[in-house]
Amino acid sequence: MKKILVTGGAGFLGSHLCKKLLQKGHEVLCVDNLFTGQKSNIVQLLKHPNFEFVRHDITFPLYVEVDEIYNLACPASPIQYQKKPVQTIKTAVLGTINMLGLSKRTNARFLQASTSEIYGDPLMHPQKEEYWGNVNPIGIRSCYDEGKRCGETITMDYSRQYNLDVRIARIFNTYGPKMDRNDGRVISNFIVQALQNKPLSIYGDGMQTRSFCYVDDLINGLIKLMEINKIDIPINIGNPNEINVLETAEKIINLTKSSSTISFIPKLEDDPQKRNPNIDKAISLLGWRPVIPIDKGLIKTIAYFKKILDNAR
Ligand code: NAD
Ligand code: UDP
Repeated sequence: MKKILVTGGAGFLGSHLCKKLLQKGHEVLCVDNLFTGQKSNIVQLLKHPNFEFVRHDITFPLYVEVDEIYNLACPASPIQYQKKPVQTIKTAVLGTINMLGLSKRTNARFLQASTSEIYGDPLMHPQKEEYWGNVNPIGIRSCYDEGKRCGETITMDYSRQYNLDVRIARIFNTYGPKMDRNDGRVISNFIVQALQNKPLSIYGDGMQTRSFCYVDDLINGLIKLMEINKIDIPINIGNPNEINVLETAEKIINLTKSSSTISFIPKLEDDPQKRNPNIDKAISLLGWRPVIPIDKGLIKTIAYFKKILDNAR
């Protein structure tokens, strides 16, 4: 049994990760300042004898004893991180420095949750880990994407200078139960709108693409990356099944049997026009690949939001 710290553990991905680590028999310390996370995401886990929650902002140092650190704390939805850009970059940079400092002192293995956003609006397609990206350093997304790029830099610098055991997961768009209904990301927005028979809000012409990974697949990938003995390069974790935003909207209208229409809204500033992971490294080095097709994942996610909306009535 290991003692594992999950920062951002009350968020969407973090709460799934905490649950899975408990199921694997570990002791889990969940640290979160509840900026975008919810206590309701971890309410079931609070009863577990091996689970502990601490409300803490990782931009301040944390003194605990752990064997592994999954550093997930950081708002991930553009709408959310743009509300507090300074707090976002502080979390991505200062927060990551604090967690690397903790890893150095405790000798804990460290996994940094990075993102496909580090590729920006990519000129290489699909994106391989070798690609350096195309990022606007002063735009409204840069608090997040430059913050995460710097997060990768300091993770590698701590590893080189202090010989830390680190891993970097470049996570591509992930969806599933426990996304916050007001989070603002495309899948949660579209499902909630469709279930309420309201128009689906497409930013721009809907021709921009994403590649959506179901949360259970993603969490398995993160755990595999943490468990592998040695790895010193970032790894893309995502589902290479690419789809444009208009097709995504149509699919969700069909699966929910909704009478919603589609409403086209002006395109967001610096919105990446295409995104698709090359996952050859995850397949060959981790033996991991996603197995849940989008329709199956969407059906589970729709059932979750239906329950949330019914309970809110
Ligand atoms: P989320 O917003 O649901 O979760 C982030 C959690 O971090 C929240 O619980 C929030 O309260 C917490 N947090 C934020 N700032 C904090 C701080 N200073 N101190 C302590 N806690 C703080 O987002 P998510 O989708 O679960 O994303 C988790 C991680 O995965 C993030 O680092 C994100 O960048 C990365 N990621 C997610 C996706 C995705 O599609 N979900 C894609 C790429 C990368
Ligand atoms: N998007 C959209 N309508 C929405 C929310 C998002 O058309 O209500 C688009 C957005 O412009 C982007 C894509 O969907 O092109 C994915 O957006 P999301 O915020 O989910 O993630 P990210 O941009 O970080 O990949």
